[in-house]
Amino acid sequence: MEPPPFDADTDLIHADRDDASAGVTPPIYQTSTFPIDDPVEMARAAATPLHPGFYTRHGNPNHEQVERVVARIEGGEAAMVSASGMGAIAATAIALTKAGDHVLAQTMIYAGTRALLTTLLARFGVTVNFVDQHDPAAFAAAMQPNTALVMLETPSNPLLGITDLPAVSAIAHEAGALVVVDSTIATPVNQRPLALGADLVLHSATKYLGGHSDLLAGIVVGSRALVHRIWDAHHLLGATLGPFEAWLLLRGLRTLAVRIERHNANAQRIAEYLAAHPRVQRVYYPGLPHHPGHAIAAKQMRGFGGLLSFEVDGTFDDAHRVTQRLRLVHSAVSLGGVESLIAQPAAMWPDVNKSERAREMGVIPSLLRLSVGIERAEDLLDDLDAALGSR
Ligand SMILES: *Cc1c(COP(=O)(O)O)cnc(C)c1O
Repeated sequence: MEPPPFDADTDLIHADRDDASAGVTPPIYQTSTFPIDDPVEMARAAATPLHPGFYTRHGNPNHEQVERVVARIEGGEAAMVSASGMGAIAATAIALTKAGDHVLAQTMIYAGTRALLTTLLARFGVTVNFVDQHDPAAFAAAMQPNTALVMLETPSNPLLGITDLPAVSAIAHEAGALVVVDSTIATPVNQRPLALGADLVLHSATKYLGGHSDLLAGIVVGSRALVHRIWDAHHLLGATLGPFEAWLLLRGLRTLAVRIERHNANAQRIAEYLAAHPRVQRVYYPGLPHHPGHAIAAKQMRGFGGLLSFEVDGTFDDAHRVTQRLRLVHSAVSLGGVESLIAQPAAMWPDVNKSERAREMGVIPSLLRLSVGIERAEDLLDDLDAALGSR
């Protein structure tokens, strides 16, 4: 791919622009199939990865527009959209492993990724180990001759752990493994894993890339050869993004740079406010100097993002009451939308093993995860202040 002619902020708005249509915004190609009369052309189209004019499970012009924009801002040769983040993660893991292979992943990783590796891929003869993301030496020690993939997530969920991408990528490459980074929480505005050594970067585009909590989508970016290998699996697995969702995602991407500026600024302010609050025991945000990953984050990220977590002084129920008192911030899973959302990670586990699971993941029961939106910071601070104020 030719070097980007414009700044990434501008590419988000214009990089999809060689569309033949007359509109300033592209049309929605709401079609499952495309007419091809010539048999030679038909055979060529059927065999071409990501072809945007054959059959929508293989590709669609609306997919191609999103892929071009995200590949450009991530600095990759090619990209492939899917119907959800898990659609991209599953296609990537399945495409790049076979029976007898080993996957090394970090312990703090998206729960769906963990379950995919430990349950589904295990049934097909792929083994997996988990190591602490903060310890590059642990990755080096756990590499095996059959390690095909190293799966990372930085910042990770829900404690915003930071993986040293250049260090771990070098270790993986020395052992002949590919490095895949889930960069959902950072976004390409704040972090470009391909430039830091990763082979592939992927996103749940449901989160910041879409940005409005109105769609599910995923995307993976890397070299053309790797993305085509992933497509080989993906078009058989069938997690195809609908053309309308692709169009909505492109619309969301237009404002990614300005949204992330506000997410970064709001989250930094709220993290500092919470860190000084007497009812808050601990704040997890990479932009705070005491955060264990702060120094590495400051090196490999351009902004610290919109997600933070904090421990309320008290029990599970005390923290839950704080979420109930919030008037502006909704209690909901997911993150990355324009509106602020709060979630209590331990609430996702049933009562019987709440504290046990919580401990295992290093998550205490009174931990709250806040996806800081782009509202005016003062309104968010007032809402938090009122909710935290009294027991
Ligand atoms: C949400 C999320 C996913 C899964 O994405 P879906 O779009 O829900 O399938 C994967 N990784 C991270 C870090 C996420 O936050």
